[in-house]
Amino acid sequence: MIYAPSAFAPPPQLDAEGRTNLLGLGRAALAERVRALGAKPFRAKQLWHWMYHRGISDFGAMTTLGKPLRAQLAERHFIARPRVARLETSDDGTRKWLLGMVDGHEVESVHIPDEDRGALCLSSQVGCTLTCRFCHTGTQPIVRNLGAGEIVGQVMVARDALGEWPSPSEGRLISSIVMMGMGEPLFNYDNVAAALGIVMDSEGIAISRRRITLSTAGVVPMIGRLGEELGVNLAVSLHAVTDELRSRLVPLNKRYGIEALLAACRAYPAGGNTRRITFEYVMLDGVNDSPADARALVRLIAGIPAKVNLIPFNPWPGAPFRCSSDAAIRGFAEIVNAAGYAAPVRSPRGRDIMAACGQLKSASVRERRSRAVADRAAAAG
Ligand code: SAH
Repeated sequence: MIYAPSAFAPPPQLDAEGRTNLLGLGRAALAERVRALGAKPFRAKQLWHWMYHRGISDFGAMTTLGKPLRAQLAERHFIARPRVARLETSDDGTRKWLLGMVDGHEVESVHIPDEDRGALCLSSQVGCTLTCRFCHTGTQPIVRNLGAGEIVGQVMVARDALGEWPSPSEGRLISSIVMMGMGEPLFNYDNVAAALGIVMDSEGIAISRRRITLSTAGVVPMIGRLGEELGVNLAVSLHAVTDELRSRLVPLNKRYGIEALLAACRAYPAGGNTRRITFEYVMLDGVNDSPADARALVRLIAGIPAKVNLIPFNPWPGAPFRCSSDAAIRGFAEIVNAAGYAAPVRSPRGRDIMAACGQLKSASVRERRSRAVADRAAAAG
């Protein structure tokens, strides 16, 4: 079995005194908490503004709320982001956060800056159940879903570090969000949807659906809902043009094959030219990178408004693949381009801090591993 939802539920967000974390509650749930304290509905709007527009977590600083309500809120609630266990910065400016959750599990998120903007890459799960052969995250044993607050919290932590409170209306360093970190977001749809609902709310963090991209390995039954309910940009991790190869690289393909996946892509609501589907294609030397593969790819996606992101394979310790040669990548891109599709080669960012695509894996797990190896070596000799 690949997935059993109940075993993966996030833990309750409680502190030692039994107070609950408000982070991640949607507008309705937040309004309910405020109502339960006997306060007027507009107080919930103010609280929302403090939390998500101003980034404030201390009820005491929420001066418009009135002292009694602030005290009442603090009695039963708190507002907390994940703990920053480590922040690393790459030579190219990419930052990677290792974040600790209440139950001790950790995930990573990554900020990839460009001149006057930047993308924030969020995780949706601790670890990942997909076990794609080329991906480091899939080798991590522990897996659970992240709660909505743990996902929104990643955005808030990054905004803290980049000084982006209150929500700037322009010139943002976090101008777009990609659900491309650890985990399969469509295996954690409800929490991801709740989190993105908060992120997109125009009176809060206010990053619009046009600037959000969700990447899936192909959880076909959820793609329609994603389009209808969230309407964010869709990216699909395709990586191979035959079911035989794709099932080896992305085992999920055994459940949802290429044909079903592309049918879901064709049905995905597109809002004009600007809303193309992105097909991600990792370039693996001698595996999926031949000119024949490129020609088959353009035949497969014919008629879908799309672009193809070619991702040079990012290595990790013990990975069973090598990155394609520059010539192979260039040749592949030319064929896809000639067929009328943009085929940018994604330049690897943050490789030096293991922050590039497919390199994320909680450092805690890495360290436990290397400690175990060191212990064994010490025991042996
Ligand atoms: N589970 C989702 C979200 C993860 S996105 C999905 O599969 O789409 C991470 C992207 O990086 C995916 O396209 C994934 O296939 C790609 N990737 C994984 N390992 C990689 C590696 N070692 N080098 C380059 N890209 C990789």
